[in-house]
Amino acid sequence: MHINDAVFLEDLCPKFRLRQWRKSIHRFTGKSCIYCGKASESIDHVIPRSQGGLSTTENCVPACLSCNGDKSDESALYWYRRQKFYDPRRAMAIRAWLDGDLRLAIRLLQWANPNSLIKKNNEKGSSGYRAA
Ligand SMILES: [Zn+2]
Repeated sequence: MHINDAVFLEDLCPKFRLRQWRKSIHRFTGKSCIYCGKASESIDHVIPRSQGGLSTTENCVPACLSCNGDKSDESALYWYRRQKFYDPRRAMAIRAWLDGDLRLAIRLLQWANPNSLIKKNNEKGSSGYRAA
């Protein structure tokens, strides 16, 4: 697994404009919904704004419109537990994300869905290479 650390520092920097910030959120998961793994079309507040959730990277996750709409004003972890597509690894990823540990979150998401769109850097051109 090769995740470019520099991306995280830059994307967390507050001077970045909102649009770039939103893009970067989607990029973290390879544009897949953190809850169900489908294409993410929106940004969801894990802790809803109505409950004091902030628009920070830690509280904002990529989500498909279906999950985002269905979840509505509920706290994500409670809502997610009741879903048919519930996966404990994704739940752990959401917690890690909330804690600001995006790298751990992404690792857990890759574990939950190894065939997802999440991009692995350095994949091409290193056919014989294996990480120890
Ligand atoms: Zn979804």
